[in-house]
Amino acid sequence: MIAPGETIGILGGGQLGRMIAMAAAQLGYRCHIYAPEGDSIAAEVSAAFTCASWDDGKAMAAFAADCAVVTYEFENVPVAPLAALGEVPLLPHPRALETAQDRLTEKRFVTELGGTPAPFAPVDSTEDLAAAIAAIGAPGILKTRRDGYDGKGQWRIMTPEDGQALDLPAKPLIYEGFVTFFAEFSVILCRGRDGDIRFFDSAHNVHESGILAVSTVPAPAALREQVPAARALAAKVAEALDYVGVLTLEFFATEEGPVFNEMAPRVHNSGHWTIEGAVTSQFENHVRAICALPLGETRLAAQAVEMRNLIGDEAHDWPAILADPANHLHLYGKAAARPGRKMGHVTRLTLD
Ligand code: AMP
Repeated sequence: MIAPGETIGILGGGQLGRMIAMAAAQLGYRCHIYAPEGDSIAAEVSAAFTCASWDDGKAMAAFAADCAVVTYEFENVPVAPLAALGEVPLLPHPRALETAQDRLTEKRFVTELGGTPAPFAPVDSTEDLAAAIAAIGAPGILKTRRDGYDGKGQWRIMTPEDGQALDLPAKPLIYEGFVTFFAEFSVILCRGRDGDIRFFDSAHNVHESGILAVSTVPAPAALREQVPAARALAAKVAEALDYVGVLTLEFFATEEGPVFNEMAPRVHNSGHWTIEGAVTSQFENHVRAICALPLGETRLAAQAVEMRNLIGDEAHDWPAILADPANHLHLYGKAAARPGRKMGHVTRLTLD
């Protein structure tokens, strides 16, 4: 067990790291952030900060020497340089990173475990794309296999001609059939070092322009019916990866049941509502899991909860948001409110 007072290392310096560090501080831990960018909003609330590139082995080893356990808040951390961490436990295991970093590997892995993703095919050339469209059909979505987030690195293909007209980036790609869904939801679980699994309630997620806009719990009944099958798959993924910490799987709810979209080996934006809306937040349970503490109760702390992201300029509305006493405002301390950037979120609980 890693006792309060010890230091938790966090790879990545964004808002997820910031919220993990705040939950860790509540439990009496110190956090040490490792990130390549100098202006880390996670470092601002942490005890120590190493600003170094991912492949700086010396800096990584010195960071590891200060930490009792290391975790990550960013799933695109390159895996090979993490060998420099040496003996310090890295949780979740880096196999989860490797699996989730590549959309093709991730979909194959989940398919082997009995999950159903959208039909997919790897694409490395215009000929591959034509063959994929012929096999899967259009419309579909072409995505970069790696490094995509918030709808970035994606192209909608409505007809085979769209595919031929596209100037393909020189990166491994994947073509996915377009899923007709009636809603999107996520399964967020936490698995302890002893294998104990707790699920948070599944939120109904609404995206705008590929970015999460609102998460609501409880989700509508038609969506809740799909949660048991989705949870069963998420538990299989967690067990297959000997996962420790918070794991997120995103799904499309379709007439045929849940279709797997993607997984994130970390705390997730669609779980931010748990800070006030669940008995224990996703951040606290992640800290508890990686430190081998008992997990906290995950059930709802209110009748209903709504979390709305503050994207770009929306964060400037903070005076009006605070004027409503029912709002819980979270601002991440980012300097520039660029369009599409997640600047904060607002949570509202329905208590009766
Ligand atoms: P992703 O980055 O893969 O999560 O995609 C961002 C958003 O685009 C998703 O949350 C969906 O709203 C939409 N999307 C992605 N893939 C598909 C698909 N195969 N069919 C329909 N919509 C999709």
